[in-house]
Amino acid sequence: MKCDLCGGTIIEQLTSYSIETNGKMHLIEHVPARVCTQCGERFYSPATVRKIQEAILQERLPDKIIQMPVIDFVSI
Ligand SMILES: [Zn+2]
Repeated sequence: MKCDLCGGTIIEQLTSYSIETNGKMHLIEHVPARVCTQCGERFYSPATVRKIQEAILQERLPDKIIQMPVIDFVSI
């Protein structure tokens, strides 16, 4: 399978997916995706995206909570 964007090689990989809803950041780990080894574009299946959306909408309890450093681009 080749990348739709650049024609690079696509490999199956587990990725981290981040999404912000209502000002709240969510990180979903170990998400299966097809990743382009050339441009880095990630392709998620509709079923995977649906599963993530459902978990967010249902306000599923997180498996863990992490602290994340934040840098404002304006300050650098
Ligand atoms: Zn690509």
